[in-house]
Amino acid sequence: MDMQTSFLDRLFESGLLIDTGVDGLYGRSGQFEEVITAFERLIDKFGGADGAEAMRFPPGMNRALFEKSGYMKSFPQLAGTVHSFCGSELDHMNLLQCMEVGDDWTKGQEATDIVLTPAACYPLYPTIAKRGNLPAKGGLFDLQSYCFRHEPSKDPARQQLFRMREYVCMGTESHVTDFRQRWMDRGVEMMKQVGLQVVIDVANDPFFGRAGKMMVNNQRDQNLKFELLIPITSTANPTACMSFNYHQDSFGQKWDLNLEDGSVAHTACVGFGLERIALALFHHHGLDVKEWPANARKALWG
Ligand code: ATP
Ligand code: ZN
Ligand code: MG
Repeated sequence: MDMQTSFLDRLFESGLLIDTGVDGLYGRSGQFEEVITAFERLIDKFGGADGAEAMRFPPGMNRALFEKSGYMKSFPQLAGTVHSFCGSELDHMNLLQCMEVGDDWTKGQEATDIVLTPAACYPLYPTIAKRGNLPAKGGLFDLQSYCFRHEPSKDPARQQLFRMREYVCMGTESHVTDFRQRWMDRGVEMMKQVGLQVVIDVANDPFFGRAGKMMVNNQRDQNLKFELLIPITSTANPTACMSFNYHQDSFGQKWDLNLEDGSVAHTACVGFGLERIALALFHHHGLDVKEWPANARKALWG
């Protein structure tokens, strides 16, 4: 049995994660949720004075806006769509017949206007663009959403439905890159307070296919993405628990996000993987929260 399986098994045995029969789709215990709640409070403590506008979107987004985002060009392998039965009574009888004999009953399902949110910030850009030009001080937003990615895995840190807390900044190049740097520093400090060792490294998104290779090289060469890494299931390949993304003016261009003077906005977003951070804490400090080091407990629960 490899390390990965055994950490997942221990999480199941302790009840912290609840097996649903699908890799990457887990229930969570009250204790697991308390850790996430406490860590989010710590995030609020670090980011609270910045005056971000809080918004919460559901885990599904407008399909037309998702199409416009270009997600299917870059990450078709990860997307999840919501389909429903839209047929007649006769279609319904055929559907039940199909299920009865074990045929593929999902073939008749039709796409709805909703797709699953792939990252917490996706619904934000078109929402803010609708308001017109940004104010002189730019934009700063606080988001949290369940996100879906079709990447089933036995690694408990790679889930298909997980929560991402994000801050998104819109403004000039220096405004948004300063924002990103500030959160890299804060991320390191926060993890230190809860007793986790981290490294920050340049990273890339998993752009699909051969054309994607060029996107990967470009993203790395220009330092557009950094990750804060913590060993969870492997010390050789530590897990990204936060990411720090500078989009240049690409989202500004795409969504028509403009500054007060009419110039195109630059954007950056900082994401916390909430389940991954909880898992890193359980991995390093043990599955029993009562046994965690006093300083980590103090940072989380005062
Ligand atoms: P990875 O390289 O591990 O696939 P990522 O680069 O895809 O991560 P982002 O797209 O930057 O991650 O997402 C923001 C944050 O969401 C990540 O830093 C991570 O903490 C978390 N995250 C991403 N994918 C998953 C997942 N499948 N399960 C749990 N958390 C995730
Ligand atoms: Zn984002
Ligand atoms: Mg990924």
